[in-house]
Amino acid sequence: MEPTSKHVVVIGAGIIGASAALRLAEDGHRVTLLEAEEPGGPHSPSFGNGTFLSPASIIPMSGPGLWRNVPGYLFDRTGPLTIRWRHLPRLAPWLVRFLLSGWTEARFRRTATALSTLLRDAPERHAEIAGRMGRPELIRRTGLIHAFIDRADMAKERLAWEVRRDLGVKMTELGADELHRHLPALSSDYTFAILVNEGAHCVDPGTYVAALADQARRLGATLRRSRATGFDIRDGVLLGVETQDGTIPCDAAVIACGCRSKPLARRAGDRVPMESERGYYVEVPAPAIDLSIPVMPQEGRMANVITAHGLRASGQVELASDDAAPDWRRSDILLRHLNRTWPGLKMDPEDPSLRRWQGNRPSTPDGKPVISPASGCQQIVHAFGHGHMGLAAGPMTAEIVAALVAGRTPPIEISPFAAARFKWRGRGTKRVSGGQPGRDLHPIRREA
Ligand SMILES: Cc1cc2nc3c(=O)[nH]c(=O)nc-3n(C[C@H](O)[C@H](O)[C@H](O)COP(=O)(O)OP(=O)(O)OC[C@H]3O[C@@H](n4cnc5c(N)ncnc54)[C@H](O)[C@@H]3O)c2cc1C
Repeated sequence: MEPTSKHVVVIGAGIIGASAALRLAEDGHRVTLLEAEEPGGPHSPSFGNGTFLSPASIIPMSGPGLWRNVPGYLFDRTGPLTIRWRHLPRLAPWLVRFLLSGWTEARFRRTATALSTLLRDAPERHAEIAGRMGRPELIRRTGLIHAFIDRADMAKERLAWEVRRDLGVKMTELGADELHRHLPALSSDYTFAILVNEGAHCVDPGTYVAALADQARRLGATLRRSRATGFDIRDGVLLGVETQDGTIPCDAAVIACGCRSKPLARRAGDRVPMESERGYYVEVPAPAIDLSIPVMPQEGRMANVITAHGLRASGQVELASDDAAPDWRRSDILLRHLNRTWPGLKMDPEDPSLRRWQGNRPSTPDGKPVISPASGCQQIVHAFGHGHMGLAAGPMTAEIVAALVAGRTPPIEISPFAAARFKWRGRGTKRVSGGQPGRDLHPIRREA
């Protein structure tokens, strides 16, 4: 073992934790992957996501003028985003920060720029990792299609597409003929599309995450089945990770618990305002149609993709608490859109073969993950809060985590992802840049 080798406990075996555990094992560290459930199991969003590995997933949910849509989110039960009334008072502070984070075009662009550094080469990285594990078939580099009714429909999101282009996402416009040549089963209502040339997808995210964890074990990592409850930190030095079954002594720890990271982050010195953006899928095991390329149809805003288990429509954003009961009407909305988008499908909502799933995206109000050393203890690394693009961002996040554990310079600028950006710097405190004291809820801005 190298002299710099450490014992690292990675807490959580979703896409982020499993990717980090593998990368750390490759670096020669002794790794304990701590997970209470099955790695990649249906309890986690790493299982039921839309499978997109897209360099175009850099657009934050919050953009200029979004506030105008809030009444719709509260009253329209069939839209792609909804807020459950009962949870509104608790969610209000997060929502205010969420709206403010995209208030101006400059903020919107800054977030997209930061996210692009995480996602730029995500498809290559995933394909390379899957190949190294001997599972190349899990990642398909077919490109990804965003389909619109017409060009005017696309122009409603002019800023988002402009920002993608400015940040180097390679895209090709497809007219009606070309679009329907790629996707003959698509409804003729769609007459225009954008092909994200370098986009890829994972045909079975749950199996992929399990394979990452298995590969880490082949390189010497241990899977420990328990739940982390805190840290043993003395005088700022980490001695171990506390679990339901005792303390695991270690030199470093990684918090990669998705939506459940908040209490552990607090114990490591950081209050992170994270909430769940709840999502759903409906899966048709033996669809009557085929798709050679995954599609995001504008109506319904859902990822439509053939996975190893059938045709999956994955999407919806529901703001409610983490553990609220699923509202299966939301997966029925996805099925209605699916039937409209693919007229040959004709799927009966009562069909017993349909599979429905609900899971929680770990979302910060500013749309960026938290990837940084913890404020209370530099040996603890945060790696959570990836919202809508955690599957795609797994490999780059793992590279950053490995660099922070080893004391190397991370491969990209990580200041936009610092947990410290959420620290309240009240009246009279010195601001890093911009904003008005006591008014700006995002006072610490270190983005370029
Ligand atoms: C409907 C939907 C569609 C999506 N589509 C896409 C997409 O197309 N592309 C994309 O890139 N992203 C997509 N996402 C987002 C992506 O799935 C998430 O960002 C990602 O899965 C988060 O991974 P994670 O490893 O951080 O968290 P998780 O997958 O939640 O993993 C965290 C793990 O930590 C474990 N854990 C929690 N607490 C503890 C503890 N105390 N001790 C031990 N273990 C613990 C949990 O059991 C879990 O296994 C989508 C999400 C949803 C819901």
